[in-house]
Amino acid sequence: MTLPDPYYDHASCYDCGLEYKSPGWIEVMIPDFVWREISPTGDEEGLLCISCISKKLIKHGFEKVPIWLCEPGPITFLPIEATRSNHALMRIWYKKSKKLEKEKQNET
Ligand SMILES: [Zn+2]
Repeated sequence: MTLPDPYYDHASCYDCGLEYKSPGWIEVMIPDFVWREISPTGDEEGLLCISCISKKLIKHGFEKVPIWLCEPGPITFLPIEATRSNHALMRIWYKKSKKLEKEKQNET
């Protein structure tokens, strides 16, 4: 049994209003340095659905941001690395995140 969470039970996407509890919500994680730039509250807080994250990434000039699919619900993505364990996939995600962060730092 999952205990009710007063924040997430009533949370929704800041931009489009999709409810966090909606079956259409796809939980993803993006690199911290990216979230700091696109956070809807400007202070690393807030909540965005995957569609609004994508729109924000485009608006902020990001490309090929590695996302970690946390709780996909009824769907799943099959990456090339699909036969690897979650732990191995997490390492790949982290490595890609760090590579992108370095590229972004070199641009500025
Ligand atoms: Zn949204």
